[in-house]
Amino acid sequence: MKLTYLGTAAAEAVPGLFCECSFCQKARKAGGKEWRRRSGAIVNDDLMIDFSPDVYTGTRSLGICLSKLKYVIFTHSHSDHFTPYELEFRTAPVYAVLPAEKEKLHIYGNKKIEEKMTGIYGTDMSRCGFDFTFVPPYQPFTAGEYTITPISVIHCPPEDAYIYLIEHKGVKLLYANDTGIFTDAAFDYLKGIKLDIVSLDCTLGHSKYYTGHMGFTANLKVKEILTENGCVKDDTVFISHHFSHNGLRADEPGDVDWTYENFMKMAEPHGFIMSYDGLVVEK
Ligand SMILES: [Zn+2]
Ligand SMILES: [Zn+2]
Ligand SMILES: [Zn+2]
Repeated sequence: MKLTYLGTAAAEAVPGLFCECSFCQKARKAGGKEWRRRSGAIVNDDLMIDFSPDVYTGTRSLGICLSKLKYVIFTHSHSDHFTPYELEFRTAPVYAVLPAEKEKLHIYGNKKIEEKMTGIYGTDMSRCGFDFTFVPPYQPFTAGEYTITPISVIHCPPEDAYIYLIEHKGVKLLYANDTGIFTDAAFDYLKGIKLDIVSLDCTLGHSKYYTGHMGFTANLKVKEILTENGCVKDDTVFISHHFSHNGLRADEPGDVDWTYENFMKMAEPHGFIMSYDGLVVEK
């Protein structure tokens, strides 16, 4: 399995669109790994997780063409993850020249995503080259060679936000952002499932608060519980992901700005790496 991060920031990106904070000013000058697009990822080259407003610039800078995409899964409907109007550009042959026998793109998500997709495109989306399926939580579904399970998390109630367990040829990825520490039901569901890659929300960075999002302290707590529950192997890769300038900035005495270099120095002894735009993890 090959996981490619297209973007790794929270909603306002890093540096923030309109932000004058000390971290954003530094990041704006630094470029490289300090520039973060809105979050999303591609598994292998055919499964996409979320469709952010930065998919266009992300795929262009990484040399990816989305014509190979077969599936898109959505975590929730916040605007940094769900840009439904961009999907229209899959329409052939007006916006995309594709072989006539090309399969439709299959899109999956929760009830809120369904409501918004059908509100824009109606129930028959075939003229745009895709279809939509509502997927209920805790019920694995098959998409080609993938087995995918949506898992409910607390992020933006009453919307039922999902994290995803994705299995491909025996390799298991838990993709979990825009969530606080998982619910007991989520931890129970995952009990005993050996995970190869775990990607965790770290929006709050330095903060120890962990409702709706997580900081690094909460990432450690999730790792601890997953370990107790038999989900972690010697070579499981843990990745902190989905960063906000407000979490990366050192606001408290004794803290340092969590640039890529500083975060890695702090996190590696705990067995974590930091996501960055273009990071590829292979298992
Ligand atoms: Zn988000
Ligand atoms: Zn800022
Ligand atoms: Zn969100």
